[in-house]
Amino acid sequence: MTTHFTSVAELAERMARTASRLKKRAEIAEAISAVRADVDPISIEKPIEMGHPGDVGLFCLYLAGLPFAEADARKLSAGGALLTKALLAVSGASDAELTAAYRRHGDIGAAGFDLYTAHAVAGDGTLALSDVAEAFAGMATAKTTAIRAALVEGLLRRATPLEAKYLLKLMLGDMRIGVKQSLVEEAIAVAAGVAVAAVRHAVMLEADLGAAAERAFAGTLGDARMRLFHPLGFMLASPVDTPEEAIARFTKEISTEDTEVSQGDTGVQAFLEDKYDGMRAQIHCGARDQHGRVAIYSRNREDITESYPELVEAFSAVEEELIFDGEILGWDFAAGLALPFAVLGQRIGRKRVGDEWRQKIPVIFMAFDLMFAGGELILPLPLRERRNRLEAVVETLVDRTRAPLLEPRQPKAQGSMFDTEEYVGERLPRLMISPSRLVQSAEEIERAYADARARANEGVMLKAAGSAYQPGRRGLAWVKLKRELATLDVVITGAEYGHGKRAGLLSDYTFAVRNAAGELENVGKAYSGVTDAEISELTEFLKAHTLQDQGHFRTVEPLVILEVAFNNVMRSDRHASGFALRFPRIVRIRTDKPLAEIDTVERVEEIYQSQVDKPVES
Ligand code: AMP
Repeated sequence: MTTHFTSVAELAERMARTASRLKKRAEIAEAISAVRADVDPISIEKPIEMGHPGDVGLFCLYLAGLPFAEADARKLSAGGALLTKALLAVSGASDAELTAAYRRHGDIGAAGFDLYTAHAVAGDGTLALSDVAEAFAGMATAKTTAIRAALVEGLLRRATPLEAKYLLKLMLGDMRIGVKQSLVEEAIAVAAGVAVAAVRHAVMLEADLGAAAERAFAGTLGDARMRLFHPLGFMLASPVDTPEEAIARFTKEISTEDTEVSQGDTGVQAFLEDKYDGMRAQIHCGARDQHGRVAIYSRNREDITESYPELVEAFSAVEEELIFDGEILGWDFAAGLALPFAVLGQRIGRKRVGDEWRQKIPVIFMAFDLMFAGGELILPLPLRERRNRLEAVVETLVDRTRAPLLEPRQPKAQGSMFDTEEYVGERLPRLMISPSRLVQSAEEIERAYADARARANEGVMLKAAGSAYQPGRRGLAWVKLKRELATLDVVITGAEYGHGKRAGLLSDYTFAVRNAAGELENVGKAYSGVTDAEISELTEFLKAHTLQDQGHFRTVEPLVILEVAFNNVMRSDRHASGFALRFPRIVRIRTDKPLAEIDTVERVEEIYQSQVDKPVES
C-alpha cells in the first residue's frame, strides 16, 4: 500500500495543536507504526540506501520538516518567492489576498491553506509520499527556475488545502508544529521497540533520519557507519564569572556528578586554553573515496566551505580521514596573533573570496579538538586522550597544510620562467593547534586570563580533562571565563523606525531571550552599537521578514541574533521576561549563532541575582 501525504499533513496539524511532548511522541509513534504496517513486504527487503528511503523513512523526514536527509547534498532551491508565485498560480488568489493571509499568519503554508479554502481549490488526496519525493528529486536537479516552478505547481495542483499548507512548510524546511527531529527519533524508537540512544547514534553517524527509521525496523541500526561531510553537533561551554567559580564547578559537579569523567580523577584536572574570538568551525577532510574533498561547517551547521578557499587548499592535502573542531581566525602572520573579530567579520558570509580578501584578512584554523580519526568517532574518549591524538595529528600535518597567501594559479605556459611554487609565493601555515595546559588553582587561571587578554583574546576556556565530547551540548565540562561586562545573546523580535537622520530606517530593536518552555520573551530594546551600513541592511532584512506591520513598529521573524552589553539588569514589568536591561548596546550581530543557542531568562535572572544592588525599574 502507498502512504499518502495526507497522513503527514493530518498528523502535523494535530501536532500543532498538541502541547504535551509525551502525547506528541505517542501519536507520532503510532503513525509511524501504521505506515510501517502498510508497507509492501517486498520493499522491506530492499537494502537501505541514502537518498532513496521507503515510506517509513519519508514519513519521518517530512514530519521533521526535512525534504532530504541532512547528509544528502541535494537542495530544493525553492525560496519564498518561487513558492508564493506557484501558490498564486494554483489558487487563483490575488496578490492582495496573499499579502493579507500572510500578514494574518506570518507563514506561507498557513496563508496557502486560507487561499485554497477561499477559492475552493482542492486536490483529491491521492498524493503519495513517493510522488512528493519524486518531485523533490526533480527540483533538486532542475536546470531552470521554470522547471522547478512547474514541479511545485504540479504538486500544489494535486494537494488538498491541508496538504498544500504542509507541502509549502516542508519546502521551506520549517513545519512550525513543535516537532523537532529529536522527538521523531524518540517516536521511531518507541514504534520499532529499540533504544532511543541507538537511533540517535545512527542519525549522528549517517545524518539520515529516514535511513535510521528504516534501520530501526530492519534491526540494522548497528550497521550504521560514520560518513564524513555532514556536520556533527558542537560542544559548547557554560559561562562562569570568576576563576574561583570555575574551580568550584570542576571540583564539585564534574568530578562527582558527571559520569563521563573517568574514575581516578582527583581534584581539579582541567585544560586551559585561550578563548579566541573568531568563527567556530568543524573541518572534514582526508576522505579515502573523495580525494581532496574538504568541508567546513559553522556552528549553525551551515556549509561555509566556499568562504575559506585557503583552508580548503591547505586541508585538501590531508590523506587521513579526520574531523577537527576549532576556530577560524583572521591572522596577523607577522605578529603571530589573531586579528580582532571585527576584522574577520568583514569576510564572514562572503561567497567569492579572491586575492583581495585573502591578502587583506588571511585566515588560519586554530584546532582545539579532534572528533574523528582512525576510522572512528573518538568523542567518548576523555579529552586528555583526544588532545594527545590531536597533537600527534597536527604535528604530522603542519607542513602539509600550508597554502599561499594568494590564489594559486597554474603557470601561464609550459616552460614559463616561474615554477608553481614561486608563482604563488610563500606557503603559509594554515593549521595551528590551540596551546593548552593543565591547571589546578584559581591563581593559575587568573594569570592565564590576564595573559590571554594581553594577546587580545576574549578570555579563557577550561575543559575537564576526563570529559567526553558531548556534541550539541552546553555542559559543565567546558566553561568559559570572559569577565568584563556581562553580555547576552538575544534575538530581534521587533523593530521601530528611528528619528532624525534615522527616520525611515528600522533602527530601534526589541529583543528577546528564551524562557524555560523555549518561548521567546522580550527583555529589552537597543538602538546603539550598530553602524549606519548595518542599520540599512537590517532595515531591508527586517522589512522582508515582518510578521506584523503596525506602522511605526513591526514585529519580525526571530532571525537576527545580537550580542548585547548593558550596565545592569532590573526587575521590570515592561517586558514579558520580567526584566529590563539598563543602557543596553549592541556589541555585534551574531550571524554565527543559531536561535536555539540564545541566552535564557534563567541566565538573565542569574546575572540579576549576582548584582549587589538588584535594581527594580520604577
Ligand atoms: P560563546 O560564543 O560566548 O557561547 O562561546 C563559545 C564559543 O567560544 C565557541 O563556539 C567557540 O567559537 C569559542 N571558542 C573560542 N576559543 C575556544 C576554545 N579554545 N575552545 C572552545 N571554544 C572556543
